[in-house]
Formats: sequence, structure tokens, C-alpha cells
Amino acid sequence: MVSAILLSLVFVASYVQMEDWLRVLLIVIGFIPFIIGIAWAIRIEQKAGYYECGKCGHKYVPTYSNVLWAMHMMRTRYMKCPNCNKKSWQKKVISKK
Ligand SMILES: [Zn+2]
Repeated sequence: MVSAILLSLVFVASYVQMEDWLRVLLIVIGFIPFIIGIAWAIRIEQKAGYYECGKCGHKYVPTYSNVLWAMHMMRTRYMKCPNCNKKSWQKKVISKK
């Protein structure tokens, strides 16, 4: 849904004759809900459950920026464990036990 808005705005901005500043403005406006949507999704992702360290099995809640910048595949992220300080692919777990 959000990406549909973004795509149509970028499409309009690219193909309709208009001033350059208006073109840029349209693209920026198109990106705002997109960025907010992603930021919100990551926030929920960060708050719900824990990540389990692949090396030592430590379970923890990562910081927002950790989640934001970590490489990820599905619900697994490559992050540094605060317990053993080793980087590994960390699986998302819902419960701490
Ligand atoms: Zn660890």
C-alpha cells in the first residue's frame, strides 16, 4: 500500500511535465510514509521477543539501531552479542526461556 503511493508519486514525478523543485518535492513526500512505515515495522520487530545468540545462546533485546543496521534474512539478523561479543546470525525467539 505504502509502496504503491510511493511508486505512483515517483511515476508522476518522472513522466509529467513540471518544475524540477516540484518533482523533487513529490518524491520526498512519497518517501515519508515509506520511511515511517519501515521505522515502525522495525520498532515492532525490536520490541517483540528476543534474539538468541548463535554462539553462546544468550537471549536479549537488541537496541533499535542494532536492529536497523543489522543485515537480516527473514527473522534472523547478523548482530553482535552483548554477552560474548561475537558476531553471529541470531534467531528471533518470542520467549526468554
Ligand atoms: Zn553470545
